Amino acid sequence: MKKNLYLVRCGEVALKGMNRPYFERILLERLKNALSCYEEVDAHWKNGLMLVRVDASIPTMEVVKNCSKVFGIASVSPAVEAPKDIDAIGAAAANFMQRIIDEEGVKTFKVRGKRVDKNFPVQSPDIGKYVGAAVLKGCKVLSVDVHNPDVELFVDVRHEGAYIFRDKIKGFGGLPLGTNGRGMILMSGGIDSPVAAFMMAKRGMTIEAVHFHSYPYTSPRAQKKVEDLLEVLAGYMGTIKMHCVNLLPIQEQIVQNCPEDETTLLVRRFMMRIAEQIAIKNNNMMLITGEDLGQVASQTAEALVVTDAVVKMPVMRPLIAMDKIDIMDMAKDIGTYDISIQPYEDCCTVFLPKHPVTKPKLANIEASESALDVEALVAAAVEAEEIVVVKPR
Ligand code: ATP
Ligand code: MG
Repeated sequence: MKKNLYLVRCGEVALKGMNRPYFERILLERLKNALSCYEEVDAHWKNGLMLVRVDASIPTMEVVKNCSKVFGIASVSPAVEAPKDIDAIGAAAANFMQRIIDEEGVKTFKVRGKRVDKNFPVQSPDIGKYVGAAVLKGCKVLSVDVHNPDVELFVDVRHEGAYIFRDKIKGFGGLPLGTNGRGMILMSGGIDSPVAAFMMAKRGMTIEAVHFHSYPYTSPRAQKKVEDLLEVLAGYMGTIKMHCVNLLPIQEQIVQNCPEDETTLLVRRFMMRIAEQIAIKNNNMMLITGEDLGQVASQTAEALVVTDAVVKMPVMRPLIAMDKIDIMDMAKDIGTYDISIQPYEDCCTVFLPKHPVTKPKLANIEASESALDVEALVAAAVEAEEIVVVKPR
């Protein structure tokens, strides 16, 4: 089987000291898993670079896309290999450029040579010159433009071989999945929480989700939307377990027994308690939310303090200091945005107070809550949870 070569670079994994072999091993496993849909993939580390070979009949950009979805990967380059001989490298580079000319009709180029193997007899700037001359000879339509070339051709001469490539297609970076604990995302159908889950997973955290609904006030379609979002996320982080909890009995109790302007905050405190209990039961060590300072009434500094007061578990809020516009851009990059903006109601919008408190006092909120049997309500909600297992699309 003829195979194409891809150079895959890791980001932060390269900065690891003693633990580097561990991270490299996991990253390689994750990459192989992401490419397991292809036959006879060959992938291994060589001096800090991953060399990946995949059946040449698979479209290059499809392979690149699958590689760059793996957390821990900084960039990917489709490449060709040449013997470590400057004439052979020149010939391979000319062939490589000819293919680009045929496909894209480019006119100018520049070569950037790098000699990683100091035993190679030609120094970095001269690699550029030699190879540039060979390409000019082989591809008559081309001329050199060092300032603004159509194609910048990279030639890396390393210990294990010489590689020629053009693009460095960026991955998401981060750390390999499964190297940084387990977290429970509170997942609504909105724009923010999928991005928050993605950001923590990108740092290596294994993610599980809890979703609250108010059935029959919220429709099954609203929950399906959350499943659709998780399906996109599962494309990056593998199968995700989702816990679904009906919050309606608790919301009704709150509406009947507590001040109207505190409704949202009281509901949020219940969400946190229930999420914590489910997280403990499933060996998750942190809660994650898509909260963003000041975005809505329940996300003022005061409201967040009051929300946090009911749980012992650390609450991660990776979006806390981001602007909404940047969160939206991230959601578009990840592929969740178009699903998030579909108009289905969230349980938070059921019983929404007209004028929610924005600067709540903990003592007042606790006094309001004393009208409720908090423990029993939480236990009943946890008991009635339903589990949905969401697989990648
Ligand atoms: P999002 O876009 O994530 O829905 P939002 O701006 O709508 O965020 P809120 O509705 O106040 O903000 O929710 C803040 C956070 O609370 C969400 O990011 C999510 O982590 C959690 N949350 C809200 N609604 C739910 C829900 N129905 N189920 C689980 N978690 C929820
Ligand atoms: Mg929301």
